[in-house]
This record gives sequence, structure tokens and C-alpha cells, in this order.
Amino acid sequence: MWDTRVNLPPRGANCRGEIMGYLAGRKFAMKTSRRMKYLLGELSDKTFDDGILNRMISIAGRDYGRMAAIPSGLSAEYAEHVVKTELIWQEARVKNDYDMVKGALKKSFDYKREFARYYGYGDRVMDSLLNEWEEGCDTKMMDAIFEDLKAYILPLLDRVRASGGDYSRGRLKNNYPRDVQFKFINDVTAAVGYDHEAGSVAESAHPFTFRLCPRDDIRFTTTIRESDFSVALLSSMHESGHAMYGQNIAPELRGTMLGMGASWGIDEGQARFFENIAGRSFEFWKRFYPLAQKYFPSLTMGVEDFYRNLNAVSFSPIRLEADEITYNLHIIIRYELEKRYYDECIGVDELPALWADKYEEYLGIRPQNYAEGILQDVQWFSGWIGYYQNYVLANCYDGHFLASLQKSVPDFWKQIGRGEFGEINAWHNENVRRYGALYPPAEILRKFSGETLSAGHYIDYLKRKFEPLVMP
Ligand SMILES: [Zn+2]
Repeated sequence: MWDTRVNLPPRGANCRGEIMGYLAGRKFAMKTSRRMKYLLGELSDKTFDDGILNRMISIAGRDYGRMAAIPSGLSAEYAEHVVKTELIWQEARVKNDYDMVKGALKKSFDYKREFARYYGYGDRVMDSLLNEWEEGCDTKMMDAIFEDLKAYILPLLDRVRASGGDYSRGRLKNNYPRDVQFKFINDVTAAVGYDHEAGSVAESAHPFTFRLCPRDDIRFTTTIRESDFSVALLSSMHESGHAMYGQNIAPELRGTMLGMGASWGIDEGQARFFENIAGRSFEFWKRFYPLAQKYFPSLTMGVEDFYRNLNAVSFSPIRLEADEITYNLHIIIRYELEKRYYDECIGVDELPALWADKYEEYLGIRPQNYAEGILQDVQWFSGWIGYYQNYVLANCYDGHFLASLQKSVPDFWKQIGRGEFGEINAWHNENVRRYGALYPPAEILRKFSGETLSAGHYIDYLKRKFEPLVMP
């Protein structure tokens, strides 16, 4: 993947696609082979005095059960459909033409409905999808989290509109040379705790983290905009969060199938903790803004103004341009439409208008065209349906991380203000990272907090941060 996204020459794409397709096919064949079935059958009723082995057997059995439940012809048909749909979407987005791709989108949604039946969920399609992405997650849990968030965020946005502040992320625009940005990113990520001796940093269109070898070779890429250095800095903080997870997994999990994040939600939570909770905080910039000014002499505004511009609440139709507050609403809108699609059997023809209505209801804006509406994101068109809520789950995990961390490190914010990440990383290593995928996500949360996942701590965090910003 690293080579494909960082180094691949344009003409190598087809050849690489064939190789990756072959390897994926081999992997699928091995995971669903008769030998695998036999081995899992032999092991299914045995418990070993070895937690790592027991968890691996349980995960392998779960994966086998899911893959074997779908007729292999249908799996292959779906895989091919998804690749084609993403290509149609790319063109449809450029042409702002929803009709071009809506038939393929309907098929993708309907495949998922069919799969849910094979998995034994009957008509509870959303429950099937949620559990697929985050073990133990269902609509009851998500609905409760989203209702709590809306109850806090929607009235807050009314106050933001009424206060009419004139801060904006756009005020950070200037010219920040690419090579200088790399130096800044390297300095900051090293200070935060990313081990550059066990990884490397490169540039790609979409940032990602690549775990070649747990602990010793965890690389990441960043996205550079020469007009706004905060884009690369925040994306590097995000990927550093993923990467430090990989660099601090327990040594005994290396070479096992557990040497990865516990779940999509927890892994993303680790990343967003460093991007948002740390990387967008005033304390963080109090420490690192003078360094930014050294590298970029054009940054003459004061740190307080910089912080307010960076965190300005924006009523944009585009998810990827959202601030910390409205980001949650972009996710809630997508989730609510997915749920209505399956529960109320609405059709793809109705989705764009329902999308625009939701934006009007929650954010007070209507997308002006499909490209800034339903066609803006790749996820649905690459088969990631029922996926979006993971970003908000991650925010909620961050709330729990922060609440527990502050009990162990009471001067957490002061330490961030001094650029000290030793105790903060030690907490993450001890309570989250070292376990890899040894336990289900809910178990990891229970071990460090005794709690179950909710939005409460995350909302407390938002209040502490945004109340002073909204009421100057
Ligand atoms: Zn991420």
C-alpha cells in the first residue's frame, strides 16, 4: 500500500491492481478453505491457558463465519460492483450528475441488505452494518449517543449564529513552503512522541498510516496545502495518533493477528485525540505557535487570534471542511439517511432532497449542487455503508480517554502547554495501545474506566472548550 500510494508510476496502476487482486483472492481462499473450517471446528470447544491464542481463535472463527455465510459468487460479484461504482462516482462528481451513479448506489445499498440476511440479522440491516464496523455496536447505542449530541450541539449553534464572531479558518491563508512545512511537522510529531526511528513520513493525496511491522516500522503520510500549514500539521497529528498506537503494541502480539488496533472506533479515537483534543487546543498552540512563527515568519497574528481562527465554527456543506462541533452533525445526517433507507424503504431518488433538508434543519444551509451534497464523499460509493458513525464513536472514546487520563495526570492541560507528552503517552500505552486487538473495544474501555461508551465525557470536553469561544 505504501508503495502504491507514495511511489507508484502512473503506468504501473493496472499491473499493481492485478497483483493486489490476486493476493486478495488468495487470502480469501485461505481464510474460507476447508482446512480452515476443519481447524476451527477442532478448536471451537477448547479453551487454552493463553489469552492471545483464545482471542485469535475467536476472531478467526468470527471472520470465517461472516465470509462463509455469503455465497462466494455473490461476494465476487459485489467486489467487482464496488470497484466499478467508485469509478462511476469519480466521473459523476466531476460532472455533478447524480443520475449517472444512483443505480449503482442502489445496488450497493441492496447488497448490504442481502448480506444482513445471510448474517442472520433479518431486516435489522443497520444493526448488522454497525456491528460489522465496531464489535458490539448497534442502533440503540448509536441513537442514544446521537440524540445526546444533538441536544447539546443544536442550541449551541444557535448561539454561535447569534454571537456573529468574525473568526475564520480562511484567515490562516498565506504561502507556507512545502519543505519548511515538513521540517515543522517532523519537529512537532517527534515532540508529541512519534518515534521517527521506527517509521517515516511522506506526502500523499489522502493521508494514511501504514503498519508494516508493529512497533518497529509504522509510517504515515500527510497532505500538504501550501496555502494553509495547519492542514498538514493536523493531518500529521492525526496519523501520529494512529502510528503511536502501532509503535506501542505489546511485543508479544507481534507476528499474531492481534498486532493492530482494537477496533475502527478506538483506532480512530487514538488518532483524533492527538488531532483534536491536543492539536486544536489552546495549550498546544501556546507551546508550538512560537515554533510555527519561527518557520513561517508571515504568521504575525497573536496566538489567541490564531487559536480562534483555527477553531472557528463554520456552516459549510462539506464534511472535510468542518470544525470539531459541526463535524458531528455531518456524520449524524449520513447515519440518519442510511437508517431511513433501510427502515422506511425510501429510494435513491429521494436521497439528495432528504440530504439537503437535513442540512437545512441542522446547519441552516442547503448544498447548491450534488457535488457539495450527496456526491461529496467516496464512502457510500466504495461500499462503506454504515461506516460514518465510527468517527463519532471515536470522538466519544476520546471523551472517555480524556476523563480517565485527567484522573491519572491532573495537570494534563498544563503538560500539553509545556509540550510534555511523556506521562500522556505512558497512559495511552498502559491502558489502550499495548493491548492491540487482544480484547473487544468495550472490554478495553471497561478496563480503564469501568464505564460503557456514551457521549457524556465528550460533551463535557466540548463545553469546556467551546463555551468560552462562543461567549467571548
Ligand atoms: Zn484516521
